[in-house]
Amino acid sequence: MTDERILFSRPFRAAAELANVAVVLGSDHVHGDGPFTGSATARLRAITGAPHALLTTSCTHALELAALLLQVGPGDEVIVPSFAFTSAATAVALRGATVVFVDIDLATGNIDVAAVADAITARTKAVVALHYGGVAVDLAPLLELTAQHGISLIEDNAHGLGGTWRGRILGTIGDIGTQSFHDTKNVHCGEGGALLLTDEKLMCRAELIREKGTDRASFLRGQVDKYSWQDIGSSYLPSELNAAVLDAQLAEFDTIQAGRHRVWDIYRAELSDWALRRDVHLMTIPPERGHTAHLFYLRMPSPDLRDGLIAHLAQRGVSAPFHYIPLDSSRAGQKYGRTPVPCVRSAEFSSTILRLPLWPDLPDDQVARVVDGVIAYSR
Ligand SMILES: *Cc1c(COP(=O)(O)O)cnc(C)c1O
Repeated sequence: MTDERILFSRPFRAAAELANVAVVLGSDHVHGDGPFTGSATARLRAITGAPHALLTTSCTHALELAALLLQVGPGDEVIVPSFAFTSAATAVALRGATVVFVDIDLATGNIDVAAVADAITARTKAVVALHYGGVAVDLAPLLELTAQHGISLIEDNAHGLGGTWRGRILGTIGDIGTQSFHDTKNVHCGEGGALLLTDEKLMCRAELIREKGTDRASFLRGQVDKYSWQDIGSSYLPSELNAAVLDAQLAEFDTIQAGRHRVWDIYRAELSDWALRRDVHLMTIPPERGHTAHLFYLRMPSPDLRDGLIAHLAQRGVSAPFHYIPLDSSRAGQKYGRTPVPCVRSAEFSSTILRLPLWPDLPDDQVARVVDGVIAYSR
């Protein structure tokens, strides 16, 4: 096969990145919370409408910060979907609390709200809603449930920057939203993240925790004349080098999203007849959602057919991986978690999906090769 290999994901390069980094390196401010952090934060707030946003070193750290803010501790339980990345679960386990795993909805890969309702106990402190692929969780019943039981809602919005539900922007609907700027995400700075907040009090405390437990943020604004240790904390702020790259990327957010939606729309249109004939489920967006084209997945009729398609595409130079070994089945999940009801749909989803290459500059001819490769799969 002489054809060029088609990468699953390729980090976007923004026009101003290098120049921005050069500005930082030529300045006296390379550590965190400088001008590029200010600018990137303003852009993030403009995209999300979040009243408060703080850049962090990763989404994992934003989730750790969220657990600290909600005072999750020993004896508490936090409900997390079984089909998810590890970060939300490990943030809970780090606080000495119990992760309670619940099943997902096969139609979206998102947390099943009925399963959440069944898993709530007197110890439940929070629920983590991961908007899988940037498609909103079924938020109406979930918001009702969390309000009724007085529990917090954390949105793990690593996939969902700019996504919407009933016109509201993901990451700002629950109590706390977390973003990832890892280089596999739509917008990136290598490694990075953010915390989105609406509540002013939470924001004040988040500033302390993020800056080693000090009120350095108030000091920088001239509100106190020296800064000192105020609270528990860690170091969750990125350097200006990361912020400089992030600022350049956020400036091109619309371009990035248009490029990704172009590819997503081609897959959806070109594969739908084939999928219907083969009993394959293509990623589908339920009503009232605006998705982010973070990923495009196929759900095959069986694990064998899925593994076969991955191998078939690999032979044609197309990288199409699957992901998320169900957390409840993992070694640490069994040690730090509790699974009240077996997560059978999570196991099925994990063993039958694969994701197609998707990045903003993926050339049309490569998209066509992916489509042809899938359609030629005839097992
Ligand atoms: C990537 C990802 C994370 C972790 O993000 P980092 O910025 O790499 O820490 C968390 N949750 C989900 C759903 C992710 O996809």
